[in-house]
This record gives sequence, C-alpha cells and structure tokens, in this order.
Amino acid sequence: MKRNESAMRVVAETIRAKKGLSLGIVLAVGAAVAASLCPPLLLGRVIDAMTAGEGVPAVWAIGYFALLALAGLMEAARESGLTVFGQAMTHALRSRLMEKMTRLSADELSRQEPGAVAARFVSDVDTVESLFTGGIAGMAADACKIFGILAVIWLRNRGLALVLLLLLPFLFWFTRRVQRGMLAAQMAKRRAVGRASSLVPETLKCIRTIRCLGKEDYMAGRYDEAIDVGYRAMEKTNFYDAIYSPVILTLNAVVVAVVMLLSASGNARVLTLFGMSAGTAVAVMNYIGQIFAPVESLGMEIQTIQSAIAGVKRIDEFFAREERNPTGEACGQEPTDAAVELRHVTFGYDEHIVLDDLSFRILPGERVTLVGRTGAGKSTVFKLLMGLYTPGSGDVLIDGRPAAAMAEAERRRVFGYVEQTFHAVPGTVRDQMTLYDDSIDDEAVRRAAALVGLDKHIETLPQGYDTPCTPALFSQGEWQLISIARAAVADPKIMLLDEITANLDAETEQCVLRALGRASEGRTVISISHRTGAETGRLIMLGGHNAASA
Ligand code: ATP
Ligand code: MG
Repeated sequence: MKRNESAMRVVAETIRAKKGLSLGIVLAVGAAVAASLCPPLLLGRVIDAMTAGEGVPAVWAIGYFALLALAGLMEAARESGLTVFGQAMTHALRSRLMEKMTRLSADELSRQEPGAVAARFVSDVDTVESLFTGGIAGMAADACKIFGILAVIWLRNRGLALVLLLLLPFLFWFTRRVQRGMLAAQMAKRRAVGRASSLVPETLKCIRTIRCLGKEDYMAGRYDEAIDVGYRAMEKTNFYDAIYSPVILTLNAVVVAVVMLLSASGNARVLTLFGMSAGTAVAVMNYIGQIFAPVESLGMEIQTIQSAIAGVKRIDEFFAREERNPTGEACGQEPTDAAVELRHVTFGYDEHIVLDDLSFRILPGERVTLVGRTGAGKSTVFKLLMGLYTPGSGDVLIDGRPAAAMAEAERRRVFGYVEQTFHAVPGTVRDQMTLYDDSIDDEAVRRAAALVGLDKHIETLPQGYDTPCTPALFSQGEWQLISIARAAVADPKIMLLDEITANLDAETEQCVLRALGRASEGRTVISISHRTGAETGRLIMLGGHNAASA
C-alpha cells in the first residue's frame, strides 16, 4: 500500500499554504525587472535634453535614483521571500519524508542503505529547495530581463536588437561551455583533494606495516599522484575563470563599437536600422552591459535545475516505496483459539530462505521455548510475530488476525519484547521504559521497575526516573533488567524473550530470571534459547525439521 505523494505535490501544497508569500515573490520578480529596465531610458532622455541645450528637471534626477533604489529593494524583497518560502518547503518535505519512513515496513527499511536514505533527507531536499529559490525564480527573473532589454532595444534601435539576437545564441553556448568545463574541473579537484587527504591518515594508521615492508616511497608516490591530479584540475578551473570575463568584455566592446560606427556611418539605409540620438546611444550601451549578466546566471540556473530534477526523482522513489498496513484489519483467516499460530510459514531475507514451511500453535497462557542452532531463524520468528516482516507464504496469526495487520498502537499492549541485545533510546530512565509513550503513567513505570527489583536503585539516582541515561548509568545486567521492565510496563498479553541471559554471570542471571518469572505471570511467554537446560515449558525446534514441535 502507498499514498500518492511526491516532491512536487509537497511543493504545490507549500505554495497553497503560503499564497500571500508566493504572490509577493512573483510581484517582486516583475517589479525588480521593470524597475531595472527604466533607469537607462531616463538617462537617455536626460542626455538628449542636455545635448539639445534644454534644462534637466530635478524630478528626472530624483526619479533615476528612486528607480535604481526600487530595483534594489525589489530584488532584496524577492530574495527574502524566496528564503522564507524555501525554509517552509524544506521543512514540509523533510517532515513528509520522515512520516513516510515511519510507515515503511522493517523489511523495506532493512533493504535501504543508511547513507542513501540520509542523502534523500539532506542533499536531495536541498537541491529541491535551490530549484525553487535559485533555479526557477532566478531563471524567470533572468529570462524576463533578457526579453525586456531586447524589447526596449528593439523599440530604440532595431539594428542593435538584430545584432544581439544573432549574438545571444553564441554567448549562451560559450557560457554553458565554460560552466560545464569549470564544473567538471571542480569535481575532479574535489575528488583529488579527498583522495590526497585520506592518504595522510591512511599512511599514519598503517605506518608500522609501511615501515616493515619498506613502502614509504610507494605511499609518497601515491600522494604525489593525487596532488598532481588536483593541481591539474585547479589549473583548468583557473583557465576557464581567466578566459570568461575577457571574452565577455571584448564582445561587449566590439558590439558597442560596431553599433556606434554604424550609427555614425552617414549611410541613409544603415541609419534606418542603426541611427540614434546621443541619449539613446548611452541607454543602449547601458543595456548591452546589462544583458550579459542574466545570460551567465541562466547557465548556472540550468545546472541547478538539472541536479534538482535528479533530486526530485530520488525523493519520489522514496515516496513510492511499499508501506506496511497500519489499519489493523483482519483478513478472513479461519478462526483459531491459539494466542499465536504459524501456518506453513516460509520466509527469507531476499534470496536467503530462513524458515521453510514452519507451523506451530501456542495457546493463551502457555510457556514455550524456541530452540535451534545459531542462525536457525529464532529471532526472525519474533520479528514475524510482531508484524515487522510479512511471510513469503503462509500465515502468522495473533489472536486469529494476521500479525502484519496489527495497528501500531495495539502492538505494545500485545507484545512485550525483550531483545537479544538491548538498545537504549536517547532520554531519561523513564524514557527507556515508556519509549516516549505518554499513555504509560508514572505508577506503571514504578511498578515495572519494582517488578525487576530496580526501583530502589533508580530512586537513589540524582533525578530518579528523570535521570538522563548514559551507558555507564547501569551495569550490563541492570540494563537487561531495564529491558524486561520496558517489555512489562505496557502490561502486554504475550512476552517474547530473546536469549536474555546470554551474557550474564550466574548470580545476575538468577536475578534476571526471577524478575522474568514475576513479569511473566498470567501471560503467554515465548522464549528463545540455544543453551540446553535454560528452556522452560514446551519446546519448539527450529532448523532442519522446521515444523516440529516437541
Ligand atoms: P541466534 O541464535 O544467533 O540469535 P537466530 O536463530 O536468532 O540466531 P536470526 O537472527 O533469526 O537467527 O537469523 C536467521 C538468518 O537470517 C541468519 O542467517 C541471518 O544472517 C539472517 N538475517 C537475520 N536478519 C537479517 C536481515 N535483516 N537481513 C538479512 N538477513 C538477515
Ligand atoms: Mg537471535
């Protein structure tokens, strides 16, 4: 089962939730472009008035500066709006990703590479943010500016507009070429720097082996190689950096010179295209200077959009992953009076079959022990019972309902799970037992601690149950007791005990077993043991002949 979620849907929801802000950004983009197009026109008029010997009204001068200030203000407003919007969007995307992760099955999660999942949350979300804050908004602003400048120049001097139209494709191609070359060189440099810096600690770590085998020159050679690659890549970035600005400036100068020469040519046919007043000449020169910057940014924005599209795809792949069924609906199995029943269950992790046609029944209040060699699948049976995995075939039934269909909230009231290895959670002593479940009150926590005989010890801690936990706060045996208290605190119907006494000394083991005896009263208890003599109740054998029950 999966919900219809995607990165773009989250973005659309953010736009809807922040309607005012989104509209403000669009208006600021438009206003900034319009305001930046006006000052050269005004400057042209001032110069025309001056060359004609007319006075220049003060309001024109004030207007000129006011327009420049307005353009700056609008750009600042656009950037601030985009930053706020970007934050809202990354917040929404990250929370949705986290919600999605909590809905994934343990099976699906165990197949994920932790680094790759972390990258979805961090870098992929960042690229989607930059798609909107930098990429699309910047591209819209730059495209508007280029078209605006071309339109104004077309109205003022057709010839120049035609020259620019011919020149722009070359300019764009050249800009992209330089940017691609620069990006490739920067990546190569980053890789080389990474390799060179990892060689130093690697050499230090293996220094004894290097000395013994006389490999000092070999390591020095490898380091030289890595820094050589880095220097060559650096030279390439310097080259691209060095050529771009001079080429653009020369192009700018050549266009201005050619247009000025043509406008001063005196040829009537040329003048119909290129003729202009002194004021217009100043204005168009100003515009030519302005048109190069947006072309350069456009190239960068295309790059941002390309990497963001890959980020969006990766986020959508994550959203599309299969979810477990959290509804807790029964699916029409034959009724059973067993607390726990496995019917012809076959299960494996990917290709590796662990349980093959396993069947057993455990009645309410019964005590059984799963026995089998290491790797026989005993802990796996517990994970199937708790619905963390679904069987490849067969049924896993808890009180007659499929285990995987059990609602999240119900699971803790049904199962108390004492894990093979205890995992502390960040937080206080109370948090270790409640696992942040607010419905478990202080009295239940105290009762659980008393059940395992740790209540007195916890009360002597500086902040009692509110003491923040560190690994040194309890001994290994005491952590094991906390683990039993965690299982018992929600008063579950079934206790699952996985090898809980494996690493304890005889005295602590007795203490843990007594605590368990008290915690297990009146419940169905399923234990795991591969030590003979530690079994209680009926035995269920795993491994070799799976379906056997003794
Ligand atoms: P032990 O007595 O050592 O605790 P066990 O009977 O509890 O062993 P399981 O932990 O159920 O054994 O593992 C059974 C098999 O499944 C093992 O071969 C193990 O390598 C494999 N296995 C367990 N968990 C996973 C997993 N998440 N992904 C892939 N394989 C797994
Ligand atoms: Mg195990």
